[in-house]
Amino acid sequence: MHKQIVVSMKDLRFATLLCSHCNTRVTLDFDAEFEPGTRHAPFNAPVECPRCANHFDSALPGAVNTMQKAYRAVAKLNDALTFTGDQDPEA
Ligand SMILES: [Zn+2]
Repeated sequence: MHKQIVVSMKDLRFATLLCSHCNTRVTLDFDAEFEPGTRHAPFNAPVECPRCANHFDSALPGAVNTMQKAYRAVAKLNDALTFTGDQDPEA
């Protein structure tokens, strides 16, 4: 049986960072207000683990910030744009 997953960007609201030092998971909400009144301010992913204070992988904060920008740009389109792991589900 072939399974296909169709994902709308709005379904990717939460991102979880894993600390490789203590296995703490930090979940970020892309819809959350990070600074009151500055909804369009740059999102700043944490660079270090809140539990052990070791730095996350150096590529992680930049990747999360980029993903958050994409989420906010695309999520408002709702189901007008979806993503699949395979070919067009209508094909
Ligand atoms: Zn940690």
